[in-house]
Amino acid sequence: MKPWMKNVRQVEPYVPGEQPKALNVTKLNTNENPYPPAPGVAEKLMQIQANHLRRYPDPNCGVLVSALAEYYQVPKERMFVGVGSDDVLAMAFMTFFNSDKPILFPDISYAFYEVWADMFRIPFEKQLLDAEFRLVKEDYYKENGGVIFPNPNAPTSLYVPLEAVEEIVRANPSSVVIVDEAYIDFGGESAMKLTEKYDNLLVVQTFSKSRSLAGMRIGFAIGHEDLIQALNSVKFSFNSYTMNETALLLGAEAVRDEAYFQNTIQKIIAARNEAEERLQSLGFTFPKPMGNFIFATHKTLPAAELFQALREADIYVRYFNKPRIDNYLRITVGTPEQMEVLYRFVEDYQAAR
Ligand code: PMP
Repeated sequence: MKPWMKNVRQVEPYVPGEQPKALNVTKLNTNENPYPPAPGVAEKLMQIQANHLRRYPDPNCGVLVSALAEYYQVPKERMFVGVGSDDVLAMAFMTFFNSDKPILFPDISYAFYEVWADMFRIPFEKQLLDAEFRLVKEDYYKENGGVIFPNPNAPTSLYVPLEAVEEIVRANPSSVVIVDEAYIDFGGESAMKLTEKYDNLLVVQTFSKSRSLAGMRIGFAIGHEDLIQALNSVKFSFNSYTMNETALLLGAEAVRDEAYFQNTIQKIIAARNEAEERLQSLGFTFPKPMGNFIFATHKTLPAAELFQALREADIYVRYFNKPRIDNYLRITVGTPEQMEVLYRFVEDYQAAR
C-alpha cells in the first residue's frame, strides 16, 4: 500500500447499465425512451451558437426553471434543477440527510441510494418490501433521519398509490421525505401537488425517460420554498454551474411540446400493455408495471442464463445479481419492433432448449 492511500475515500461505486457502442443492438437495458425528443429540441440545437458557449451559463438556470414552473404551475422558488435526477438526488442527500438516525429506503430499490449514503456517510436502514415486492408503508413510520423511495419503484416498476405516499409524508414531520418519480409520467399520479400541503416533501423527476433526454442530463425537484432554498445553498457551495447552456435551452424547449409528449407516452404505454400479454404467454410473470419497464421472472428459464443468451444475440436487458431479485430481468419497454425482436428470441430459445 502506498503511504497516501490510507487517506483515500473508499467507495463502492454505482454500476450503470451497459452502453454498447454498436447502434444496431436491441437496447432494452437502461430505461431510455426509444423515441427521439420533441422536434423543437432538434431545431433549438441547430440554433445554438458556439460563440455563446464562451460565457458561463446562468447559474440560476432561469430559462429552464421558468419553463418548468410554468408547465407545472408552481412558483419558481419551489423549483430546483440539476444534471439529471442523479445530481438532484445526490444534492438532496447532502442537504437533507444529516441526522445521526438512519435514513430509510426499500431493500429492493434504486441502487444509487446506498452508494450516496456510503459516500456522504449517512447511516441507513433498508426496509424489506413484502413477498410481492410491495412497499409496506408502516415500515416508514419509525424514527428516522429521512426517507427516500422511487415511485414507481425501480427495478420492480410497482407503483404506490398517492394516498399511501401521503401517509408516509404525514407520518414524518421531523424528516424530509423524497419521492423519486423518475418513471411517474408512464401512468402514476405524481405527489407534486402534495408539496403545497407538506413542507417536508421533495418530489424529484427527470427528463431522461418520458422526455427522451437521457443524454442531455436534466433533472428537477419540486418542494417547499425552504427546501429549495436549502438545496440551492448546497449547490452553490459545490458548483455554481451544474447545468450547461445547451441543457438549459434544450430542456426548456422539451417541455413546450405537450402534444408530442403525450403521444410518446401513449405509444410506450400501449407497447407496455402489449408486452404484458406477450411476456405472460411466453411464461413470464411480473409485478404490475407502471414505469417504462417490466421486471420479469420466467417459470423455467433462469434469468442469468437468459440474460447472457439475449446479450449474445445483441438484445440488452438488465440483470441484477442480488438477493431476492437474481432470477429477474428488467426489460425496458422499447418500440413495438424492438419488443418483437425480444419475443421472437425468447420463443426460439425456449423451443431449442
Ligand atoms: N431514479 C431512478 C429510480 C432511476 O431509475 C434513475 C435512472 N437510472 C434515476 C433516478 C436517474 O436518472 P437521471 O439521472 O438520468 O435523471
